[in-house]
Amino acid sequence: MAPARIIDGKAIAAKVRGEVKAEVDRRRAKGARAPGLATVLVGNDPASHTYVKNKRKAAAETGIESVHHELPDATTQAELLALIATLNADVTIDGILVQLPLPKHIDDRVVLRAIDPDKDVDGFHPESVARLVLGLPGFVSCTPLGCLRLLDEERVELKGARAVVVGRSNIVGKPMAQLLLQRDATVTIAHSKTRDLPAVVREADVVIAAVGRARLLKGDAIKPGAVVIDVGINRDAEGKMCGDVDFASASAVASAITPVPGGVGPMTIAMLMQNTLTSHARRLGLS
Ligand code: NDP
Repeated sequence: MAPARIIDGKAIAAKVRGEVKAEVDRRRAKGARAPGLATVLVGNDPASHTYVKNKRKAAAETGIESVHHELPDATTQAELLALIATLNADVTIDGILVQLPLPKHIDDRVVLRAIDPDKDVDGFHPESVARLVLGLPGFVSCTPLGCLRLLDEERVELKGARAVVVGRSNIVGKPMAQLLLQRDATVTIAHSKTRDLPAVVREADVVIAAVGRARLLKGDAIKPGAVVIDVGINRDAEGKMCGDVDFASASAVASAITPVPGGVGPMTIAMLMQNTLTSHARRLGLS
């Protein structure tokens, strides 16, 4: 069997950002204000600083105006909620992103629920989750949305396909399963209590791995010709970055597969830009 096609997430993410920029330019040429994304960072977690920096860089590149709010670790929940209330009321802000994790003394569920669902570009608000399940317009978590875009770019037929999502987190596994269901796939969600995981995954035409265990799924768990999307970001024993899928053995069996890094990773931020663009259109009544 021919080795799997490598799905180039970096290139597809660049394409998405290019589309966002072209649409922002088109709207601005017609006199619309720039889309606005508020980023909120509390504390000094170095990884969070990097994530927010990368999101702001993507915003600048696509013509989205990002307004950054950096708050000290000692910020109270009430102070953070007051900032969110201000951003909810600000007509120039289309998306509000609160970078997680928050300091331990702040309840992230309370904070995420305070964001106006119409500005919830991360798709974490319970209202956004409800809209996804009900098939109503809303925002979907960026990582699963990015996985769907990769499948679409690869022209993978989802209608009637057997899809197995490994992992049931609120931000990746569950919304991913909903998106696949919406596209008429027959969806199984596997998790840590699933019996004989390789046998379950071997049924799948489309495998989404969102577990967080280095190289958990080997080639013998992949059905020949399956499409494999690997969300996992792990370090192996040698400290090398790797996914939840053993790329070497799985790529010998799959028809297409995402690498780690360079697969799903770059898509998450690109889809955040797309969600902000969508919010801008809805709020200005452009679509
Ligand atoms: P969580 O830890 O929230 O969820 C992991 C899921 O995997 C759980 O549902 C858990 O099951 C399941 N699981 C754990 N061990 C096993 C096992 N041995 N067999 C089967 N299922 C198992 O992780 P996230 O969903 O947040 O993230 C998953 C991975 O994706 C991580 O590596 C993370 O770093 C990466 N990630 C990448 C992103 C990107 O932009 N590329 C964005 C977000 C995440 P149970 O529910 O039973 O505990």
